[in-house]
Amino acid sequence: MTQKPAPNPKVLHIHPYVPGEAGDGGGRIIKLASNESALGPSPKVREAIEVELGCLARYPDGSSTLLRQKIGEVYGLDHKHIVCGNGSEQLIAYLAQIYAGPGDQVIQSEFGFIAYKIATLAAGADLVAARERDYTTDVDAILAAVTEKTKIVFLANPNNPTGTWIPASEMGRLRDKLPAHILLVLDAAYADYAGEKEYQAGTELVDAAIATGAENVCMLRTFSKIYGLAALRIGWCYGPESVIDALNRVRGAFNLSTLAQAAAIAALDDQDYMEKVRRLNNEQLPRVASGLKKLGLGVLPSAGNFVLAKFPGGVHQARRVFTDLKKHGIILRPVEGYRLAEFLRITIGTAEENGLLLKALGKHFK
Ligand SMILES: *Cc1c(COP(=O)(O)O)cnc(C)c1O
Repeated sequence: MTQKPAPNPKVLHIHPYVPGEAGDGGGRIIKLASNESALGPSPKVREAIEVELGCLARYPDGSSTLLRQKIGEVYGLDHKHIVCGNGSEQLIAYLAQIYAGPGDQVIQSEFGFIAYKIATLAAGADLVAARERDYTTDVDAILAAVTEKTKIVFLANPNNPTGTWIPASEMGRLRDKLPAHILLVLDAAYADYAGEKEYQAGTELVDAAIATGAENVCMLRTFSKIYGLAALRIGWCYGPESVIDALNRVRGAFNLSTLAQAAAIAALDDQDYMEKVRRLNNEQLPRVASGLKKLGLGVLPSAGNFVLAKFPGGVHQARRVFTDLKKHGIILRPVEGYRLAEFLRITIGTAEENGLLLKALGKHFK
């Protein structure tokens, strides 16, 4: 027998990502499984894409220049410190490859977003999980997990799947206490939803890392959530020069399609629409949370567009409810892969969808 090519051994420790189910296409589906926007993208996105349909033979702008300029304008950032990715997931994978490898360690919190683990193992490094307190990132536990092998700390704030978040003061304390050579990656995928006073997406920490020359913090954002463009795969990183430079060396030359770039620009141009999506979530999230609590479920405090709900009857009840609701066309998200089997993650939908969800759940808890 000849020897077969062998992948980096850590790759075989990866459990392939299990996306939220989408339904079988029969009848009406209410998909509350993947934290997508309840209202979809701005209507201006469709017009922008239609304009670009005349140019499909041409390669896209490889540097996403106009999009980066528009992001800079809307968020008050220097576009030279921005790089776009084919979804922020692509940037997570590149950061792991660039800053970690065999023999290195990467830290995330216990119930942190699963993409960090996949990216870390794919890069050949080891993932270290720092325990959480009340399903919330614990800065002291992360600091206690640091060794001389640590290269990256990934922190989603608010976190997915828990929805919980830590205040700006805690993020600052984490950066202060981490050794200077460790890259802190702040994933702010839900920042546009998070309106809490003590919340910051991470821009200030990146600015400080630029100003002091420490260059050890970057922030990730996405168009998949509040902007409703998950299908087009658009994310971005705001970071110091050396991080942006490394990402630009590694990324594909044309990593964002022309349609994606045009759509994202149109979405950013319609901030009124974005506000409308945010307002809907601000009004519906408390409604869904209190409806679930009235039924006896535990609900973690969430700053995103979803809640993580704990079933008093444990794993079996969570599974039964998932299966039964699916039969009725309502798809929630099991989170057994996070070892949160007694929970289901529920995306906040439209007012009508949320009403139907609470009604269907009510039948289980009579
Ligand atoms: C949804 C999500 C993303 C977005 O990923 P994309 O690849 O941009 O679609 C990133 N981080 C977290 C924590 C998320 O929940």
